[in-house]
Amino acid sequence: EHPTYGRIEGRLVLIGYGSIGRGTLPLIERHLEFDRDKLIVIEPSAEGQALLARRGIPHMGVALTPDNYRAVLTDLLRDGGFCVNLSVDTSSLDLMKLCRELGALYIDTVVEPWAGFYFETTDNSERTNYALRQKVRDEKAANPGGTTAVSCCGANPGMVSWFVKEALLTLAKDTGAEATPPEDREGWAALMQSLGVKGVHIAERDTQARATPRPRGTFVNTWSVEGFIAEGFQPAELGWGTHETWFPENGHRYETGCQSAIWLNRPGAITRVHTWCPTPGPQFGYLVTHNEAVSISDYYTVGDPGAPEFRPTCHYAYHPCDDAVLSLHEMFGSGVNQTIHEILDVDEIVEGIDELGVLLFGHEKNALWFGSRLSNEETKGLAPDQNATGLQVTSAVLAGMVWALENPEAGIVETDEMDHARCLEVQRPYLGPVEAHYTDWTPIQNRWELFPEDIDESEPWSFRNVLAS
Ligand code: NAD
Repeated sequence: EHPTYGRIEGRLVLIGYGSIGRGTLPLIERHLEFDRDKLIVIEPSAEGQALLARRGIPHMGVALTPDNYRAVLTDLLRDGGFCVNLSVDTSSLDLMKLCRELGALYIDTVVEPWAGFYFETTDNSERTNYALRQKVRDEKAANPGGTTAVSCCGANPGMVSWFVKEALLTLAKDTGAEATPPEDREGWAALMQSLGVKGVHIAERDTQARATPRPRGTFVNTWSVEGFIAEGFQPAELGWGTHETWFPENGHRYETGCQSAIWLNRPGAITRVHTWCPTPGPQFGYLVTHNEAVSISDYYTVGDPGAPEFRPTCHYAYHPCDDAVLSLHEMFGSGVNQTIHEILDVDEIVEGIDELGVLLFGHEKNALWFGSRLSNEETKGLAPDQNATGLQVTSAVLAGMVWALENPEAGIVETDEMDHARCLEVQRPYLGPVEAHYTDWTPIQNRWELFPEDIDESEPWSFRNVLAS
């Protein structure tokens, strides 16, 4: 028995039938009503089109470009509808602006640029997620309100912003503080500040694996290889908190925009950080840039953005599946991108979970990890066509769509700005165990004592200690 959450009037346009598109469609079919003859999937790859044809799903074999997107989408969405953008190489900003112009609801899982941006932009500060996100925030400021467009509503960015709120309420309850959910951004920021939280890792450990070893020359991942390589080659970025005692030599600040983040002149996917997840305990993660690092630090800022009274540090600390770690090692070592890309399929994975949560640190109880520990095995019984990683993303897309249908005139929003309780209510049946774990681990534990490091013992949670040398 699956609840129906709402009805899509007009066209349902899905852009991209890759790993996330394939997993999202069955959830939309299960939980939302729409006219079947108004569904269309835009998918340029021959493989995607063949699968769509086999499944009898109406589709258009076209790659959206800056030259054709207006004509293609205006034709489809002139009477409104819902545009679900799950593609790579399409500009989220351009697509969302057009959808709002046409009065069609819009959702995506990342601020994606047009093809070429990631590898042809020579100025590293322009290749950051800060720059991409700020353009969306500027558009929101210039054109407030209007038709809802949900920006960055996947697992992360996306669901993790709802987890931060749930974790704050858990921490408030467990420390005997006021645990009534605040009603606005200022209230949430004040709650985080009053609880003494210094920062947040988006702490993920993916242990999904297949039976056969990774063949050399093949990039293996549990979601888009193209998407991961693109973000992995962007500079490492993090929201920069007010507790920080040190500034990295290769770090750069911003003079314009929300000023919540800094970037390092180094690719994120070879920048290692010390972090913690329930399964492994202490582990290395990669500081891959993500929208949520910038948005969460922005959302929880207290005071003047240029000289805040409080701001949390926030960044991704990602241990992808072991085959992806080896793939990165090979790619950065050789300086060449592998030409064979494989996304681990739900049926070939023989073990493992995707453990994705938020680690709130620096407070009275030291650190709290709150997140989803979904196994691939459990995923098989929950929804078709996806592994555990996929389901954490697609169920967030579903939740975001439900919220948009219930709030159709909310303008451009990020997941920090949505009703986290409603979204998690929709998403939670698909997340497996959602758990809170306290730990007494800090980044100055489990170091290599025979090789003393230049660490700051007076502030265990300083980024200087988190960043691996
Ligand atoms: P994928 O590589 O499996 O699929 C991408 C799809 O986009 C492909 O089917 C491809 O043919 C299509 N595409 C490429 N160029 C296009 C164009 N010009 N016009 C229309 N379609 C085009 O990727 P995926 O794993 O399905 O991921 C899809 C998107 O979701 C990516 O942008 C990825 O970064 C994002 N994502 C977000 C999260 C999150 O948690 N927020 C997680 C995973 C993926």
